[in-house]
Amino acid sequence: MPVSILIPTPLRRYVGGAKSVQVTAQTVEGAMAALARESPDLRQQLFDGAGKVRGFVNLYLGDSNVRDLAPTLDAVAVKDGDVLTIVPAIAGGAPEAALSRDEILRYSRHLIMPEVTLEGQKRLKGAKVLCIGAGGLGSPLTLYLAAAGVGRLGLVDFDTVDLTNIQRQILYSTSDVGRPKLEAAKERLTQLNPDIEIVPHGLHLASWNAMDLFQGYDIVADGTDNFPTRYLVNDACVLLGKPNVYASIFRFEGQVSVFDAKRGPCYRCLFPEPPPAGLAPSCAEGGVLGVLPGIVGSFQALEVLKLILGTGEPLVGRLVMFDALDFKFRELPVRKNPGCAVCGRAPTITAPVDYEAFCQVRGLEPAAGDKTVPTITVEDLHGRLQAGESFNLLDVREPHEYQIVRIPGAAQFPLSQLPVRLHELDSARTYTLHCHRDTRSLQAYQLMRRAGFGRLQVLAGGVDAWAERIDRSLPRY
Ligand SMILES: [Zn+2]
Repeated sequence: MPVSILIPTPLRRYVGGAKSVQVTAQTVEGAMAALARESPDLRQQLFDGAGKVRGFVNLYLGDSNVRDLAPTLDAVAVKDGDVLTIVPAIAGGAPEAALSRDEILRYSRHLIMPEVTLEGQKRLKGAKVLCIGAGGLGSPLTLYLAAAGVGRLGLVDFDTVDLTNIQRQILYSTSDVGRPKLEAAKERLTQLNPDIEIVPHGLHLASWNAMDLFQGYDIVADGTDNFPTRYLVNDACVLLGKPNVYASIFRFEGQVSVFDAKRGPCYRCLFPEPPPAGLAPSCAEGGVLGVLPGIVGSFQALEVLKLILGTGEPLVGRLVMFDALDFKFRELPVRKNPGCAVCGRAPTITAPVDYEAFCQVRGLEPAAGDKTVPTITVEDLHGRLQAGESFNLLDVREPHEYQIVRIPGAAQFPLSQLPVRLHELDSARTYTLHCHRDTRSLQAYQLMRRAGFGRLQVLAGGVDAWAERIDRSLPRY
């Protein structure tokens, strides 16, 4: 007999988000067995080791509790069109936690929402969320999750607060400059909500520690700024079956998605390989409008809360792109890739790999024939200039950066114009390349090497090293 089984919200994640599942069976026991066959993940939630429905699971056939109809499930027959409802005594993956009188007042604007209620708020309190990165995205993310009452908030970061962070990282104040980020973040978040637990993980996330760390959390929110960590977070989440709430930002653009390989694609399904190093510059190189991480990190917080509450439509299988300059949203469907190296049918990645190597396969490796890129230090350059030696210094930064600070005598050759202006240079001469720090001068080096320039060197640390160590009157950025 065809029977519908209604799946409660907290368990929908085990059946691909479905509200109900159709099975064919003669008895309630048969219907539940059919459900367990279709959803092995759900089997662990509902059945004990002996294959019996666990005691805390109540089943209703129509309006009647099945336990009231007969002593055993196989004795309850079902007929065509019957509706079986699963009513779990516990609410989903996150154990509920009781709320104090003060907490009930604190969260009152949640409690009166039918999408949250007291039950949802208890679920938030029982939830454990790990935020990777306590920077631009991590700021609104952790502030809103703490304010919303997520019971345990793990933070991974190893940086100290820098003055350049304050323009967008609203978790920190000017007085925090120089402090470890996690120390300042824990203090701020505890002030915001003393009823939750803030767990600082002051470590470099790496292949050897990610799995152990993620194990202790229900949801991972990835707000990092580099590709090796993105792939590591993705793979560890897929391997552990945890949802990865993803966001990224650059200048005026943001992306958000929920990668949950149990019911949709993962980050690798969308991006099987990282871009060549240098093609996707970091915020430190490319800049970011201060409010953008505020907007995108808030979307990330929204998706985390929805996953915990089991409400709404999560961004699974959808990538939302936000262009702040044009104020335009675009939503692109993302499909699961059956050939995905980590979540596909025949995965080749079964444990975290070496992500540094994976993400640096192309781009900055020396050109053919080169073993290493020749460099010169700012001290060496300075000393030799003082001694009267002349250098052909090329500044490959963009013109608006040249206005902030420059090395005296450097000619402007922005990397973006270099390919069409190479003819202005003489391949027989020696050039010393520099940018803000190193990244773009290395790209310029590669480009010129390929064009036949044989006498090149890169100024290690760029204009920033010059301002830091040679002329301290110059501004740094
Ligand atoms: Zn995948």
